[in-house]
Amino acid sequence: MQSIKMVDLGLQYQKIKPEVDAGIQEVIDNTAFIKGPAVKNFQANLEKYLGVKHVIPCANGTDALQIALMGLGLQPGDEVITPSFTYVATAEVVALLHLKPVLVDVYPDSFMIDVDQLESVITPKTKAIVPVHLFGQCANMEAIMAIAKKHNLFVVEDTAQAIGAEFTFSDGSKAMAGTIGDIGCTSFFPSKNLGCYGDGGAMYTNDSALAAKLQMIANHGQSIQYQHDEIGVNSRLDTIQAAILDVKLKHLDEYSAARRKAADYYDDEFSKHSKITTPYRIPNSTHVFHQYTLKLDPSIDREALRNRLKEKGIPSMVYYPIPLHHQKAFLPFQKPGVAFPITETLVSCVISLPMHTELTEEQLSYITNNFLEIVDSM
Ligand SMILES: *Cc1c(COP(=O)(O)O)cnc(C)c1O
Repeated sequence: MQSIKMVDLGLQYQKIKPEVDAGIQEVIDNTAFIKGPAVKNFQANLEKYLGVKHVIPCANGTDALQIALMGLGLQPGDEVITPSFTYVATAEVVALLHLKPVLVDVYPDSFMIDVDQLESVITPKTKAIVPVHLFGQCANMEAIMAIAKKHNLFVVEDTAQAIGAEFTFSDGSKAMAGTIGDIGCTSFFPSKNLGCYGDGGAMYTNDSALAAKLQMIANHGQSIQYQHDEIGVNSRLDTIQAAILDVKLKHLDEYSAARRKAADYYDDEFSKHSKITTPYRIPNSTHVFHQYTLKLDPSIDREALRNRLKEKGIPSMVYYPIPLHHQKAFLPFQKPGVAFPITETLVSCVISLPMHTELTEEQLSYITNNFLEIVDSM
């Protein structure tokens, strides 16, 4: 049996090596390192895949979130709502721009921002909501868009973990994650569902004026060469990364299906166990399983379990062990008396198992058998 990794990018590469190598070689042969044709091609192909008018590539997912907030013209002190259970980047860029991150707790089953608590934190200073499509499915975008409309707020979707997931509205219409709010922001970090071989990211929008502004900010606030209309940043997707992504985009649906198949296998093995809660699947979103994240019964010592898994050659991770509101950098933003009880329980009971496109039945069976045996012995 091949050794088990959290994410196995080597095996995935072997299957697309000729195409990827040719794409990289072409960029080098043409010395088209910056703004080469592969960037435009990938941009157009991703627009088509997502059914969105504009994709604006940039250097990474964190930049995408930062540029998105800059593009909306928010002013220092404006409040931006994010979930309390997410990767730091979501709230970090808010604070970096001197905006105020306002956290909202998440649902205990789906881990998504609790829409019923959203309105209670809205103030006259609130300008935007940044929902996170965590672990591979969509937050409740229908309810979020309705609240945003009612209070005249922008919506910036953090879709770094959910590229390819699709949301179904109650009228039956469908839209891809990231194409519903004003701007969607994604990451092409190697381990993401559509990952390159370095850093990369993109913003999506259906608003052409906003797209032009985001493009300009990502390029030193420059509209025409050497004419700078606003303070911007330097955030580009390398041509080599775009060439790789253009190859991998063709396989994205197949990759999502492979992840779902692995998740189905895990679910079948774990769902009947009283001490394990398998990932909740939101009815109006497809799940692309960026992570396969279980909840453990409080009686299980998670660190001991992880150590015993490690002894068996089974890696595991905890996404995320420390919630934003306990991070030193975010302490200045905490309001006294505000608690996030669901996030608090999740950080102590979640565990993520190996999830990637190359997991074999042999590996899945080895993982699940050992996992169950260890849990039963605890
Ligand atoms: C990965 C990730 C990001 C940041 O992406 P980078 O490309 O690493 O900057 C932002 N938000 C979430 C939820 C992520 O998982």
